[in-house]
Amino acid sequence: LRGLKSIPAVERIADPCIECGFCEPTCPSQDLTTTPRQRIVLRREMMRQRAGSPVETRLLESYGYDAVDTCAGDSTCKLACPVGIDTGALMKEFRHERHTSREERIAALAAKNFRAAEASARLAVAAADRIGDRVLASVTGLARRAVSPDLVPEWLPEIPGAAARRLPRTHRPAAVAVYYPACVNRIFGNPDGVSGPSLPEAMVALSARAGRPVWIPDDVTGTCCATIWHSKGYERGNEVMANRIVEAAWGWTAGGTLPLVVDASSCTLGIAHEVVPYLTEENRALHAGMTVVDSPVWAADELLPRLKVRRRVGSAVVHPTCSMRHLGDEDRLTELARACADEVVVPADAGCCAFAGDRGMLHPELTASATAREAAEVTARPFDAHLSANRMCEIGMDRATGRSYGSVLLALEHATRP
Ligand code: SF4
Ligand code: SF4
Repeated sequence: LRGLKSIPAVERIADPCIECGFCEPTCPSQDLTTTPRQRIVLRREMMRQRAGSPVETRLLESYGYDAVDTCAGDSTCKLACPVGIDTGALMKEFRHERHTSREERIAALAAKNFRAAEASARLAVAAADRIGDRVLASVTGLARRAVSPDLVPEWLPEIPGAAARRLPRTHRPAAVAVYYPACVNRIFGNPDGVSGPSLPEAMVALSARAGRPVWIPDDVTGTCCATIWHSKGYERGNEVMANRIVEAAWGWTAGGTLPLVVDASSCTLGIAHEVVPYLTEENRALHAGMTVVDSPVWAADELLPRLKVRRRVGSAVVHPTCSMRHLGDEDRLTELARACADEVVVPADAGCCAFAGDRGMLHPELTASATAREAAEVTARPFDAHLSANRMCEIGMDRATGRSYGSVLLALEHATRP
């Protein structure tokens, strides 16, 4: 017998891989660095090599960027894999292993003090408006060269201005749902040059218009879905925030009596599913009693049937996010877009934009590569509206296409405004 292929054991999560490649077409880094299959194959090759061999050394040197840094962590590979391997989770595990205990402590401290971090981030974005994109791009460029491009985000001109300092006023007694504006929507405002209500204002107005009023708790500042820590593999910070959001949401929703509506699909996914492994036993029981709803589902199922569409644009293109694929609610994005536009296009090559919170700012080349085909399709013709439901993915698509993406809820608010 010749040419028999050995399959050395690597990480338990990846060992069942049969190297079929079904995961490859969905992977946003497939054209830039590696696919999920290649990430696993490379680990196996490292194990085949003798310790310290030139090949092993070279593989180890390259793996950091080619596999770990340029993984968007979207886990759409898991959806495509016949044996359910989540290569994204494996890459997050590697990120975690790279952290020193000091880095983990600092990340946990940031989670504990997120209220101050959030306020500072909002102020920094507001100050950036005054400083200007070119100065910020050169300052962050220098810092990236001095520190690391995997730690210091690049300033992108598509980053919008700051959100309003105050969230809209709402009242608890009449509310039929708790509205949780994600921290990105508490920090970033509408795209530059887009006037009209902010996303929280639109959500509150739409819900009231449909007779389904929502309530924004007074103490949302300082809470978050924990995805920031989860995606970077900071376990202790993730545990802090995962437990905090579940305890807070339990109180806000009166022990799960009201649904919790979240206005960014990746944050909905975070709160609904990704926090669970990091919860204490008590909080896991609370979490099981809560209903977390993605904003397009809320708008399509609860609001749209009670609203009158008064104006439509001619055409809209949508960007379904990878979180929507995990949540299984991409159809609601299209349904809402159809209420707002006569013609709705879902690009055949729509996929994960790989902006992944801030990964598109750490490695802009990843988003550029991931979105190239979808962007070519979108920019081949004009559209009146470019719609999604996740602020950071919208920024990623703005950058990819040079167009201005916004939440489908903003479009629905405009379409149904009396
Ligand atoms: S789809 Fe799953 S089994 Fe197939 S190559 Fe990818 S990770 Fe391996
Ligand atoms: S999580 Fe995304 S980028 Fe990472 S391996 Fe899976 S599909 Fe590729």
